[in-house]
Amino acid sequence: MDYKETIDMKRISPMMQQYLQIKDEHQDHILFFRLGDFYEMFFDDAVLVSKELELTLTGKDCGLAERAPMCGVPHHSCDIYIKKLIDKGYKVAICEQVEDPASAKGIVKREVVRIITAGTLTDSSYLDEAKNNYICSIFVQDKGFGVCFADISTGEVTCHETSTKNITGELLSHIARFSPSEIIFNSDLLKIKNVTKYFKEKLNCVVDLIDDEQYDIQKCTQSICAYFPQEMGQIAGKDLTIMSLGALIYYLNQTQKDSAKRLVKFQIYNYNQYMSLDQSARKNLELVENMSTKEKKGSLLWILDHTKTAMGKRMMRKVVEQPLINYTQITNRQNAVKELLKDRITLGELTTSLSKIYDIERIMTRVFCKTANPREIKTLSYTASSLPYIKEQLQSIKNSALISEIYDGIDTLDEICNLIENTITSEPPIVIKDGNVIKPGVNAGLDELRSLFENVAEHIASIEQREKEATGIKNLKIGYNRVFGYYIEVTKLNVPMVPDTYIRKQTLTNCERYITQELKELENKIHSAGEKINILEQTIFNQVVDFVLSKIETIQTPASAIAYLDVLCSFANVAAQNDYVCPDITLDSRIEIRDGRHPVVEKMLKDVPFVPNDCVLDNGQNNLLIITGPNMAGKSTYMRQVAIITLMAQIGSFVPATSANIGIVDKIFTRVGASDDLSTGKSTFMVEMSEVADILKNATKNSLIVLDEIGRGTSTYDGMSIAKSVIEFILSDKKLGAKTLFATHYHELTDIETKFEGVKNYSIAVKKQGEDIVFLRKIIKGAADDSYGIDVARLAGVPQKVVDRAKEILKEIENGERTIVKTVREEIPALEQITFGGTLEKNEAIAKLEKIDENALTPIEALNLIFELKSLL
Ligand code: ATP
Repeated sequence: MDYKETIDMKRISPMMQQYLQIKDEHQDHILFFRLGDFYEMFFDDAVLVSKELELTLTGKDCGLAERAPMCGVPHHSCDIYIKKLIDKGYKVAICEQVEDPASAKGIVKREVVRIITAGTLTDSSYLDEAKNNYICSIFVQDKGFGVCFADISTGEVTCHETSTKNITGELLSHIARFSPSEIIFNSDLLKIKNVTKYFKEKLNCVVDLIDDEQYDIQKCTQSICAYFPQEMGQIAGKDLTIMSLGALIYYLNQTQKDSAKRLVKFQIYNYNQYMSLDQSARKNLELVENMSTKEKKGSLLWILDHTKTAMGKRMMRKVVEQPLINYTQITNRQNAVKELLKDRITLGELTTSLSKIYDIERIMTRVFCKTANPREIKTLSYTASSLPYIKEQLQSIKNSALISEIYDGIDTLDEICNLIENTITSEPPIVIKDGNVIKPGVNAGLDELRSLFENVAEHIASIEQREKEATGIKNLKIGYNRVFGYYIEVTKLNVPMVPDTYIRKQTLTNCERYITQELKELENKIHSAGEKINILEQTIFNQVVDFVLSKIETIQTPASAIAYLDVLCSFANVAAQNDYVCPDITLDSRIEIRDGRHPVVEKMLKDVPFVPNDCVLDNGQNNLLIITGPNMAGKSTYMRQVAIITLMAQIGSFVPATSANIGIVDKIFTRVGASDDLSTGKSTFMVEMSEVADILKNATKNSLIVLDEIGRGTSTYDGMSIAKSVIEFILSDKKLGAKTLFATHYHELTDIETKFEGVKNYSIAVKKQGEDIVFLRKIIKGAADDSYGIDVARLAGVPQKVVDRAKEILKEIENGERTIVKTVREEIPALEQITFGGTLEKNEAIAKLEKIDENALTPIEALNLIFELKSLL
């Protein structure tokens, strides 16, 4: 229901008028309207939020015939509610009281001070420390696009523009690399069918269309000059970048005043600097999340990430998602890891020291937003105090270029450390009002006020003693409560001895309570001292924060250096713990792996050891490997392991093998498994074919392609023909010739080895032991002698009757005694004789049979069909 339509603005209360005016400017947002200790929501927002957060929907009298629907959350615990709304894709506008209610004339002034959206979060309670939180800004035109990714929680922004015909493909590839949580764009993007739907539904991003008028080149240039004066030179003339960055600045400043200023780490993204990996390769190789659980456990990141700092964790994720293709950059990382491994004691010391480093990048954002609390500020000094020791440790191993760079990047932040150490107490509270934030000796006025407090107990005791003596009431006591403050308590028996100067305040069963002028004055003095202490502490704390803020850029460099060091130490520790070796990186396009292992499967196997396997791939004799073997033999594991080892080598990590030679690959493509992509309306086969199309269009001689079962989504002959023709295309197309691993169940394809140079047949060995098959997991030369499908079906628990019948049918087909078509047709009379089936089911069975394309059935499909028909009848 749209309440706005029905509201009589003349009758509604002034406070509600204020609410509606503010809400009018924030129609896309859920308005958290501050009323005392609560954030309240009204009308449509209240109805929606009460449902989404399961809050009680109440009402508020507001001058109308009906109460306004209302729900609210306490101000002190609002974070948890806001987080839930953000996770559900909403945007929240925080409206605060911006004047003191005590001094306000009429309605307290309120303003929206912040808009919280998925891509502009800064509070640690909303953010995952191990992941950057990017907002992406896209500007699309017919001939290309400009794109920026910014994380205001860490201060980094990356820009890129490209002229391309394949806008969708390239754009999605960028987005896959950064996984933003929010995307803003110009209206031209809407011309690309389904893309925003894909962002929302597949990538779970919040999407916002920005008004086209914001994409004015002059306006955008001006705002970039204001925020990035030094960087403007780098993007001058790059209009697509200017538009996307300009719109980003506009949007950030809309949500949080001036927040674009936080972006201090500016980078032009060089697309050609990294290995190209599309969304499906990232998913299939399980780089950062396991395909089935969507969790980190079971991914490559899970194996490699032994970082100790939040900054290191974020960097590790980036490193895994952005493999390098530059020889020097890769070997620089390798050399640093080697250096760390040479001196295990130093590695251990560094790892321990890194555990003491806090997330200074994100703390700096809260310093910038003026939301950092005393405890966070203190962690800056804890961090800074660990830096000199880390630097000292690096001194002895800085033979590697990268470690030397890291060494130089670690500013020990002495000034910041000293100021915080000298000013802030050792264990400050989170909330400044709780006091005891500023150390004694920092401010004389503060010390004096505090001493008053400290002497209160003594002072009260002396008044009590004096009064006892003066009145002769031996059991006279001075107490304190919140209502009357300090009071003198006299038992009923002694009341006649009370002097006239005592003012009676309270009568209890056995005693009377009094106040005196002296006690009142003391109380006022203490009260105002408390307020003064608060103000003074706040002022001094703000000065510290301002100083830290003035050093924001000084802190960013050591933060990045620490993150990088953490990643390299993690590589070294993981290599040592798992027995990884340093791969030889070459430019000769040959991949040769000895005793390679799949890093994740190896870790997951509990009862059996992982069986290592070799691999040789090149652009010559070993260009395309056709891998056959029964289901469950280990074909997919083997192919992914080759791709993952290659990728690990190119991020600078050591690899699970006894030796590896990795000729740098420019792109890795995978086509693995089958899945419908219903959101884009594609069937399993359609998804498979569009992935194949993409690979054939974009792979180069230097790429690595993993094709796991092509053509299984259609009939046997169609599928086999497609598979064969794909192989021929990869081998014969001049510019292609990519190194390829090709797993298949079509044994007929293994003939290709004899017809094409560069093709090699391999299979995963199995052994027959009586009725059972034993998986040996070893890759051997030559094609598999059998597909063992029926044996695997038996292992999987298919009823023995079906297994036996399948064997019979298979035998007949192999002997040429019958065709699949016949097999089905011959079953019909038998089916018709089944008397317990109803007519309806019989008709359905016959209808099913009539619809069958006999030529398109595989043996297993025929078997399934028989099984289905039988159960139907
Ligand atoms: P399908 O054809 O049905 O897809 P597949 O041949 O691709 O099967 P995988 O999925 O690679 O088989 O492997 C099946 C299981 O075998 C893995 O989950 C793993 O547990 C085990 N496995 C694979 N390779 C090895 C190995 N080298 N050493 C030990 N166990 C392995």
